[in-house]
Amino acid sequence: MWRATPLTLFPAMFPGPLGLSLAGDGIARGLWSCDPYDIRLHGLGRHRTVDDTPAGGGAGMVMRADVLAAALDAAAPAGDPRPRLLMSPRGRPLDQARVRALASGPGVVVLCGRFEGVDERVIAARSLEEVSVGDFVLSGGEVACLALLDACVRLLPGVMGKELSGAEESFEGGLLEYPHYTRPRDFEGRDIPPVLLGGDHGRIAAWRRAEAERITRERRPDLLGRKG
Ligand code: SAH
Repeated sequence: MWRATPLTLFPAMFPGPLGLSLAGDGIARGLWSCDPYDIRLHGLGRHRTVDDTPAGGGAGMVMRADVLAAALDAAAPAGDPRPRLLMSPRGRPLDQARVRALASGPGVVVLCGRFEGVDERVIAARSLEEVSVGDFVLSGGEVACLALLDACVRLLPGVMGKELSGAEESFEGGLLEYPHYTRPRDFEGRDIPPVLLGGDHGRIAAWRRAEAERITRERRPDLLGRKG
């Protein structure tokens, strides 16, 4: 079973939306698990403090290295084979290749930051891989972690069933996906491209390929020539 362990100050956020739909069915069927670990269990003192003011001054609070290390060591003791990730806008942007690699492993341990972020020393001391979900700033790592888990879980064998047409999706082959259409044939005066209604599978495949290339060239030329 593929195991996800998000470390968070808000364990109630998990599995959240991933408890519904196909991902949720996957949990119910034992294909994967999502067991959040409450960082606050390792908070210090009567108030279970997990953060402190930034060394050098400045706004906001920083999550303490000692608290986070204790939480990581308890949630994923030495010998746990899963990669340890830190959701972070400074990380390498998540892509489908990394998602596929994570999905084919034993699972993930994911530290979700809050406040201004985490003490730099715990990143090195626990070999955390920083992962970003895009060039924007969230209020915490939980929503970023949910996005990462969603992307991984839908690739697990049995989770998506026939719905997953893996080979033709966006990013497979380094291209964005071609456009989709379904009934009705006429929508507010807009037709379905005739080639899709002709039943010639060779022509349909060629049209989809050309559309995928056109859309990728227009919107994400940086993807062309990159390996999905
Ligand atoms: N002060 C930080 C932002 C902290 S946001 C900075 O300027 O870089 C608080 C937490 O939200 C982060 O520790 C991280 O866990 C999470 N987070 C915010 N944006 C993210 C993103 N784009 N990708 C992944 N995690 C993100």
